[in-house]
Amino acid sequence: MAARAPSAPRRLLARLREMMARGTASLPAFVHLLAGELVSEVCSIYVLRPGEVLLLVASEGLNPEAVGHTRLRLGEGLIGLCAATATVQNLPDVQNHPAFAYRPETGEDRYASLLAVPVRRAARILGVLAVQNRTPRLFTEDEVEVLETVAMVLAELLAAEAGAEAAESRLDRRLAARFGGAALVPGLAIGPVLPLGPLWRHGGDASPPRLLADDPEVERARLAAAMGSMQAGIDELIAGAALSGAGLTEGVPDAPREVLEAYRLIATDAGWMRRVQEAVRSGLTAEAAVHRVAGELHEGMRRVADPYLRERMADLEDLAGRLLAALQGDRAPPTVLPGTILLARRLGPAELLDWQARGIAGLALEEGSAHGHAAIIARALGLPMLAGARGAVDAAQPGDLAILDADEAQLILRPEPEARAAYARASVARSAQAARWEVLRERPATTRDGSHIQLLLNIGLPVELAQLEATGAEGIGLFRTEIAMLARGAVLDVDEQTTLYARVLDAAAGRPVAFRTLDLGGDKLLPDAEATGEANPAMGWRSLRVGLDRPAVLRRQLRALLRAADGRALAVMFPMVATIAEFRAARALLQAEAAQCTRPPARLRVGAMLEVPALLWQLDALLAEADFISVGTNDLLQFLFAADRGSPRMAQRYDVLSPPMLDLLDELVRRAAAAGVALSLCGEAAGHPLEALTLAALGFTSLSMSAGGILPVKAAFAALDLAALRTVLATIRRTGRDEPSLREPIAAWAREQGISL
Ligand code: PEP
Ligand code: MG
Repeated sequence: MAARAPSAPRRLLARLREMMARGTASLPAFVHLLAGELVSEVCSIYVLRPGEVLLLVASEGLNPEAVGHTRLRLGEGLIGLCAATATVQNLPDVQNHPAFAYRPETGEDRYASLLAVPVRRAARILGVLAVQNRTPRLFTEDEVEVLETVAMVLAELLAAEAGAEAAESRLDRRLAARFGGAALVPGLAIGPVLPLGPLWRHGGDASPPRLLADDPEVERARLAAAMGSMQAGIDELIAGAALSGAGLTEGVPDAPREVLEAYRLIATDAGWMRRVQEAVRSGLTAEAAVHRVAGELHEGMRRVADPYLRERMADLEDLAGRLLAALQGDRAPPTVLPGTILLARRLGPAELLDWQARGIAGLALEEGSAHGHAAIIARALGLPMLAGARGAVDAAQPGDLAILDADEAQLILRPEPEARAAYARASVARSAQAARWEVLRERPATTRDGSHIQLLLNIGLPVELAQLEATGAEGIGLFRTEIAMLARGAVLDVDEQTTLYARVLDAAAGRPVAFRTLDLGGDKLLPDAEATGEANPAMGWRSLRVGLDRPAVLRRQLRALLRAADGRALAVMFPMVATIAEFRAARALLQAEAAQCTRPPARLRVGAMLEVPALLWQLDALLAEADFISVGTNDLLQFLFAADRGSPRMAQRYDVLSPPMLDLLDELVRRAAAAGVALSLCGEAAGHPLEALTLAALGFTSLSMSAGGILPVKAAFAALDLAALRTVLATIRRTGRDEPSLREPIAAWAREQGISL
């Protein structure tokens, strides 16, 4: 492929357009045209076949016998690498490249340089388009751009050829299918599904209507107009949220406004706009240019492990969808039938709010993380949500019936009649149960034999403050201060933090609140977080460790907390304390800030989270110095059993209700009681009825949990004879010493007692 006059790409695209329009396009004609127009000695097409094999299906320049025979596994050789990683391979000397996989039948040993681009459609890799030259050289950026544009046209051609196969695979789409994943927001929804392709928005298609521009100037103007209208749309969305003040407007909660503000910044980011503009300059229509950039983003996302970077990219994908909708004149959105379950690969925050306003009842995403923007909003809206349901979008037809059982982390598509009937019954029972729980809201959590257990909330966003009233919780046992910052994508300044914390204290109206200082790092990263390059970030430079090494941020947070308290009582707890020295250093920072405070708190309580096992061996010192301790079983379990809390494979393996953990907690309760130090537990375990009963039997009198746990746990306590469970638990622990978990015998006893778990 030699350097060409600037008009060459345009002529090539014009000829391709002609070929496609006349219907004479075939793969051999395609490679022939390309090799000629690009003056390259070889032009080849590899297509991805079932079994992850790339087959050479057309070539101009390689030995004809190789066509239909030469195969490479995904990831094998440079072509395989291009497809597996969806990245352009631009190499001046392939023969000496370590990844080169030589196939003698092709005769390609004569060619030195290679430019291979992935062929993708609707974010799926279909194959690879490659050109080769004898002379060793690096291809220019313009050449790469042209070949990528041509690859989009090729993708349409391949998709048309695959039409017959697709019709066959549609036959499978009548059978029931189950998808697992991670439940990000619990709940149950039964209804028709609405599957969204990667860029399917507001009635748009999976691929752009036209790929090649007749007049690039016209496309440039269309793009500029659409960008303006998209940004105006986002401004409107934010204004709508802003109008809501502290409350809600028509289903738009105000807290996600922070998310939307961050989103607006991304929308005005010049980088991705420029990429779309460049794609238009390369000869694509505005729609095709957006598709191309979005496709690249999607692929980029697959390669990025960092969850927060992935979320940023998801936002960009969401924006690409909005831009397409603007280009297509915002066609009428599809009707959302009652109970609709939305299926999508990923979803951005603004889009989720749009769909929620149209009445969806739940959503299942193929990707997405618990701390992602969509999850934060779904949680705030109480929409059942499943993530990681891979393959669900393609397996579904619009209108198929589905059951989204986010409690059990599964999506059942086209359920069999028996499953349908069982879930319909469960849904009725659930409504009845919710009504029964309602009456418990006003009552304190008391066991049948009269013991009171304080139930507190774990929250992190202002919108969740409404849960104080909704659940009748007695206070906030864990305010995760990092969540609002993660939602915003940046550390809030002192004034912003002060406003937020004051709002929390106002809403609590005298009820206890334990503010936990920033617990960032590990999987909770802000976009501009310092890269630590650690192999095990959960055990690395995170949380309080960062706070102590870089005290400026922690001190500002402590100042904001003291200002927010403004003379009221304040409780601050430090996360991930591993040694008493760390606790003392953190407390000293707090005391230094308090000493400078004009209106110090009426009562300042300083606590530690107990989530690193080593601290248990400095417990006497801690009990002598801390005002309270809160056990974080999520981390404690992971460090006790050396089992990653985020790994689905570890999820069922080690149990809070196991002899080592129960022994540990038992001893902790006894020693804290002897020292007169308040003890609570705020790991997820506290919100599960069976665990909550067991913890109460061990002697915990305060538990802090997600909002969804409060009423079920209260209901379980109301049916519990605590004294009886204490006796039974002692026996179960004695006889089950060597068991990996005591869950079953405890649950069996609870069921016998008629306690609903
Ligand atoms: C815990 O580790 O149990 C805890 C409550 O903290 P987080 O889940 O925020 O790490
Ligand atoms: Mg923790």
